[in-house]
Amino acid sequence: MGLWAAFEAGKSGLKTMLIDVKGAGAGASGGLLGALMPHMPDRWSAKKQFQFDALVSLEARIAELEAITGLSAGYRRSGRLIPLPKPHLRDIALRHQADAETAWKTPTRAFHWNVIDAPQVAGWVRVEAGAAGFVHDTLAARIFPRGLVAALAAALATFPNLAFRKGEGVSAIDAARKRLHFTSGDSLSYGACIVAAGVSAFQLLEALGPALQKPLGQPVKGQAALLAADVDPGLPVIFLDGLYVVAHEGGHVAIGSTSENSFAEPFSTDAQLDGLVAAARDLVPALADAPVVERWAGLRPKAIDRDPMVGPHPDHPGIVALTGGFKISFGLAHVLARAAVDAIEGRAMDVPPGFTLESHLAVAGRNAP
Ligand SMILES: Cc1cc2nc3c(=O)[nH]c(=O)nc-3n(C[C@H](O)[C@H](O)[C@H](O)COP(=O)(O)OP(=O)(O)OC[C@H]3O[C@@H](n4cnc5c(N)ncnc54)[C@H](O)[C@@H]3O)c2cc1C
Repeated sequence: MGLWAAFEAGKSGLKTMLIDVKGAGAGASGGLLGALMPHMPDRWSAKKQFQFDALVSLEARIAELEAITGLSAGYRRSGRLIPLPKPHLRDIALRHQADAETAWKTPTRAFHWNVIDAPQVAGWVRVEAGAAGFVHDTLAARIFPRGLVAALAAALATFPNLAFRKGEGVSAIDAARKRLHFTSGDSLSYGACIVAAGVSAFQLLEALGPALQKPLGQPVKGQAALLAADVDPGLPVIFLDGLYVVAHEGGHVAIGSTSENSFAEPFSTDAQLDGLVAAARDLVPALADAPVVERWAGLRPKAIDRDPMVGPHPDHPGIVALTGGFKISFGLAHVLARAAVDAIEGRAMDVPPGFTLESHLAVAGRNAP
């Protein structure tokens, strides 16, 4: 989120400093999966429309980034295959197929949620997994998180108005004096500050007060794995019961993810990941003997109201939140970052009202006695 915000601020000509305690991509964004999954096409809402527009616009934004840097972000609209194990799921999917025909449209493009009897490509998902058929959606896409981070970091290096300070964490924000305090004891003044510190953003924002009844957000651990497999990188993402299988470029397939609200070790992997890998091998014959080349764990920022958290602090307008992307950050970060920079530049943010920091603060009990 912070890299996109720095990119937008840099493009706007703002004098910008990107601060990261560990370096670009050190947090959840440095992972392996990168599935860009649309919301279901039924019960359409402003939030779903916002995510749809973001998923559609990301394609051009990635092309822009790749043109600037010459680097690949590993983006492809590969679509998605969802096995339907039971007949009633096919009935629901057929209703969604009709919903998608009206919801998944722009003035120039249409995306589809097609119910099919068998996967169009043999040897990817096991045919028996879809006893009642499959959904093939043409809107879903994937990006390689580390490719995206590298491309964004390279693009930022081209901005003369942008500096990068790494190796020092922000320990506190003094909103009254507009100063950041670092763990090293150093401090720095700012004109406006976008707080895009992933799971740590919640505490930095809470510390600004007033006291809240509940935390602004929580970390949700996820584990994922990368396998080496000689498969077509254009194959669709497979999704079944929380299991994602994502074919990336360069002979890699990512598998994810666990979703853990409580955990002892935030950044280590365990038997839960073994279970996911086993399930993926069972579902996708091409992965049966594929070696695991990396196991990875990270913390997703889940805001109190589950939606992303963006926008000015009602008491300290120079502080702008940008976090809470939870499980869908990669598809939204570019538009949320633009909204955060709009807020700094005094423009109205074009985001659903429930996404604003003000809304999340209210849910956390800001106005309670
Ligand atoms: C296993 C797993 C799989 C996932 N799969 C997907 C997926 O398929 N699709 C999807 O869209 N999303 C996915 N996500 C979620 C996604 O990765 C996160 O929502 C997203 O990366 C969060 O981005 P962020 O910029 O808010 O936080 P981060 O990427 O965590 O970045 C925060 C940065 O702030 C820095 N920082 C923290 N505290 C401080 C401080 N005090 N001072 C200075 N710097 C600080 C950190 O070093 C870090 O670099 C997945 C997450 C996990 C864990």
